Amino acid sequence: MSETIFSKIIRREIPANIIYEDDLAIAFTDVNPKAPTHILVIPKKPIPQLDAATEEDQAILGHLLLTVKKIAAQMNLKNGYRVVINNGEDGGQTVYHLHLHILGDRQMTWPPG
Ligand code: 5GP
Repeated sequence: MSETIFSKIIRREIPANIIYEDDLAIAFTDVNPKAPTHILVIPKKPIPQLDAATEEDQAILGHLLLTVKKIAAQMNLKNGYRVVINNGEDGGQTVYHLHLHILGDRQMTWPPG
């Protein structure tokens, strides 16, 4: 499995504003926010991208979505929010450790760029 900057954040080797952690997942604020609230939720297991997930990861994938919901409540995103997974080059993925973006506290537009 590949090593990325997110593995270093999990191991506290580089600083991040960590707002949530449990046995399977960790969440921190995005260093280059695209909305007033921009959180990244990642599995501790270094799954490089959604396409690399397997049946074995089913519980982790479900856990990540439920963690998003928990964090949205924690961040008081009562008016809604957007959840994004960028997968691969055309998806605009830049860090190859699976992550879910939570974007909130502004009106989103559709379609995304
Ligand atoms: P992607 O484009 O792969 O979907 O998203 C990667 C995200 O990670 C980007 O929004 C980028 O701003 C964020 N990011 C990249 N490096 C760091 C870092 O070192 N710390 C934090 N907190 N976010 C990062």
